Amino acid sequence: MAEIILDSKAYKHNLNLIHSHINSHNKSNVEIAAVLKDNAYGHGLKEMATIAAEYGIKSVFVKNYNEAIQIYKFFPQVTAFYGMPQGDFAKNIAFVIHDEKHISALPQGTKVELKVNVGMNRNGIEPSELESFIQAILQKKLELIGVFSHNGYGDDLDSVFFHTQSNFAKLKQEVLHLSQKYGFAPPRFHSLSTSGAIRVASEGGITDDLVRIGIGAYGYLDVSFENPISDKLQKVASLYADRVSTRFLDKGERIGYSGCTTLNSPQVVSTYDIGYGDGFFRVNENHKVYIANGLQILPRSSMDCFSCFCDEPRICVFNDVTHLAKAFGTISYEILTHLSPSIKRTII
Ligand SMILES: *Cc1c(COP(=O)(O)O)cnc(C)c1O
Repeated sequence: MAEIILDSKAYKHNLNLIHSHINSHNKSNVEIAAVLKDNAYGHGLKEMATIAAEYGIKSVFVKNYNEAIQIYKFFPQVTAFYGMPQGDFAKNIAFVIHDEKHISALPQGTKVELKVNVGMNRNGIEPSELESFIQAILQKKLELIGVFSHNGYGDDLDSVFFHTQSNFAKLKQEVLHLSQKYGFAPPRFHSLSTSGAIRVASEGGITDDLVRIGIGAYGYLDVSFENPISDKLQKVASLYADRVSTRFLDKGERIGYSGCTTLNSPQVVSTYDIGYGDGFFRVNENHKVYIANGLQILPRSSMDCFSCFCDEPRICVFNDVTHLAKAFGTISYEILTHLSPSIKRTII
């Protein structure tokens, strides 16, 4: 049965590396919050929550209520980026306000974080709406624990990234002013994901209270700017597949749907139990995709298996998805998040 091996040491190594980098230039301690959304980037939500909690992570971000209720016991603070609760929930789960309807949807006493648009023009409220939203949050007696934005220009080497940062700095001043005016405790501030956090730490220091680290902790940081982290990260997930069957085929015989692969010489061919139904992208005749030992995944792969000139009982499909992302014209995030939750996960 196919299996994803999760290297807990690699995850902790990555967090140590990122932590020491972002705090080497700062006077105050910047907290690392772990982003565990989308089934922990396909790694497995419960498994990665276990590892993150063991490491000492206190705050995490997940996609929604459904994810939050699975892991709220592991951490003091869990925030669901999107959507509202669909049932009961524990006090330590916070929901994100993007819109007025979210304020009316939540019961009194719920922790909330307010998302503000500072330049990505995607989610959140406008800076000009800040005071009216804070008034509405206070009126509804929700507990405002955070104000945040998302700088989506972390890997763009023009000035937009810093312009966005300065928008957020202004916003923080405004929130602090409002906290005095209305008498609520200053919330935590955060605006940076992995690429932005690594970049700001190198170029002057982070002034937020926490950073939201996703991809870097899983071992990937493909950015165009030089940094001391990218090369030292270790990949957390490797995917293994087991042999389903083996046969000897002659020259000229064909394999798979539409007989897409034709043999130039006699070969030993086996199928392995990973296919596109497992969230592993479908390999067709336009791709050249190789497993970890360099053997090619023969086009076309099927829903539940692929073929390879090989007869080993178990093979490592990947221990690094960088080349797969290239082969499929996408980014490592997408290859990872697609991995089916029904594949067995084992923590080592
Ligand atoms: C996914 C996400 C992150 C984490 O981004 P990485 O690039 O994986 O570090 C941070 N903040 C928000 C709002 C996100 O959606």
